[in-house]
Amino acid sequence: MLARRSLLRFAGLCPLCATAARAGEGAHWGYEGADGPEHWAALSPNYAACSAGSEQTPIDLAAGIPAQTGRIGFSYHRQPLQVVNNGHTIQVNTAPGSLMMIGETGYELLQFHFHHPAEHLLSGKAAAMECHFVHRSAAGALAVAGVFLQPGHLNTALVPIWRAMPASAGPVQTVANVLIDPAALLPRDRTYFRYMGSLTTPPCTEGVMWTVFRDPIPLAPEQIRAFAALFPMNARPVQKLGRRFLLESGV
Ligand SMILES: [Zn+2]
Repeated sequence: MLARRSLLRFAGLCPLCATAARAGEGAHWGYEGADGPEHWAALSPNYAACSAGSEQTPIDLAAGIPAQTGRIGFSYHRQPLQVVNNGHTIQVNTAPGSLMMIGETGYELLQFHFHHPAEHLLSGKAAAMECHFVHRSAAGALAVAGVFLQPGHLNTALVPIWRAMPASAGPVQTVANVLIDPAALLPRDRTYFRYMGSLTTPPCTEGVMWTVFRDPIPLAPEQIRAFAALFPMNARPVQKLGRRFLLESGV
């Protein structure tokens, strides 16, 4: 019930959440039991794509087709920290002006958020966590960049976010005098997988261009535990690749 209320309450604050709230009229969903991923399509007619869709996310990233996919560019800016626990994840809402460039098209960063464990698999294996950078072009096309997180040294870029993340669903927190640098959460090696997929949460809308980096970034085991204490499992199971092409850059 809490998640349902929070989804409605914060619908106006995050473009994707707004889409979800409008499309599903706030139909509650979760990651286990009767509200879990295998039942999402039954929770609302507007979630039909979660079952009926043929280009769903996440997938197992294996055997990518080597391709000249072109460079991907990022111009993310340092910015004040706005963080929200929306009942499904910890999400950082970002200020206008941070861009991901794919070819000649600019996609503006709207928000980034985290999954535990990772949603995409890499040759059948799940990383500890995955971060999704959600972007939208001027024409309204969605493009998400995924970054795996694996146990290692303390991730200093996450420290201010983890310090501010609310323990339960609630309003967006603007944290005074704290700047974050989203670019610090991108891996140095930019080898990536590319495919067409969907949102990984209801309404599972398709037509989303996915870029998932092969190389993970580190975070400390204590940082994983801190997130897992709030979200023990917020990953959708992998979906069929079907007739889609999975491309891999720089190979
Ligand atoms: Zn996500």
